[in-house]
Amino acid sequence: FLPMIAILSLLFMVITANWIKRRVTWRDRIKKAMQRDEFSVAYQPVCQVSSGCCSGVEALMRWQRRDGEWERPDIFIAAAEEENMIIPLTRHLLSLLARDVESWPVTPGFHLALNVAAEHLQHADFVPDIERFARQVAHKQFQITLELTERSLIKEGEAVAKKLAWLRQCGIKVAIDDFGTGNCSLSYLQTFELDYLKIDRGFINPIESIEGETPVLDAIISLSHKLALNILGEGVETEMQYRYLSQRGVGFIQGWYYARPMPSDALRTWLTTDGA
Ligand code: C2E
Ligand code: CA
Ligand code: CA
Ligand code: CA
Repeated sequence: FLPMIAILSLLFMVITANWIKRRVTWRDRIKKAMQRDEFSVAYQPVCQVSSGCCSGVEALMRWQRRDGEWERPDIFIAAAEEENMIIPLTRHLLSLLARDVESWPVTPGFHLALNVAAEHLQHADFVPDIERFARQVAHKQFQITLELTERSLIKEGEAVAKKLAWLRQCGIKVAIDDFGTGNCSLSYLQTFELDYLKIDRGFINPIESIEGETPVLDAIISLSHKLALNILGEGVETEMQYRYLSQRGVGFIQGWYYARPMPSDALRTWLTTDGA
């Protein structure tokens, strides 16, 4: 019996030690990567269907390690959220953004969208962080849009609703990201003042023909119309998907069909050629 306990406690120690090591490692790695300037931002153009022109971009974080390998955004963002590093990382992103946008040839009203994590929304520094950024880039006269997931809105709804209402008064727009994937009720649509609804790629992907049956997608589109929200289709990869969405009144399209995410320098060139 005693040896059994000894083995079990040893096993327990090894597991905890590994767990602590793993925790420390992600935190440390993200911190170090910020110091070493391994993060950058990729910008994916969004197409305004009515004009066929680029209405703006979404900022997407990128991490290239010293050895040249790229870390996957969904993985390091999830790790940053788990390890309480998403707020410093988002502040880092805002500073990269403020630097990048300086060289862009854009006209007033150009849309600049960025992703905000739930934890940040609930933090006291959220509004000041966004206000500071908005002041930094004020001379560019962007339409800044914050992309929030459904999950981040259902937690602490009322406090968050107040913050968003304030930011909207300051001219900042709010988008629901990955709409339809949050596994939550739609009641938040009544609580929050929203501007954009981004239809998740999962609903766009099944579109195969212009007459095809996509009842859930069609219902989302008509819901957005009834709520007077701007609709953006995400992950549009084919001309068929583009045509299907534009025929049904989806105002904005984002996806590889129109443009891939690209570094700031490439975007500058793209805006003066393809995006015009
Ligand atoms: P998201 O906000 O839904 O961003 C859209 C994702 O779809 C991006 O993946 C983009 O590269 C990808 N995408 C765009 N068009 C297409 C397409 O036509 N086909 C396909 N298959 N994919 C397409 P990415 O850059 O890997 O980012 C993944 C997720 O990581 C983002 O999903 C977002 O949730 C998160 N993320 C990225 N950057 C940030 C950030 O700065 N802050 C936060 N909080 N989250 C971020
Ligand atoms: Ca997004
Ligand atoms: Ca999305
Ligand atoms: Ca997504």
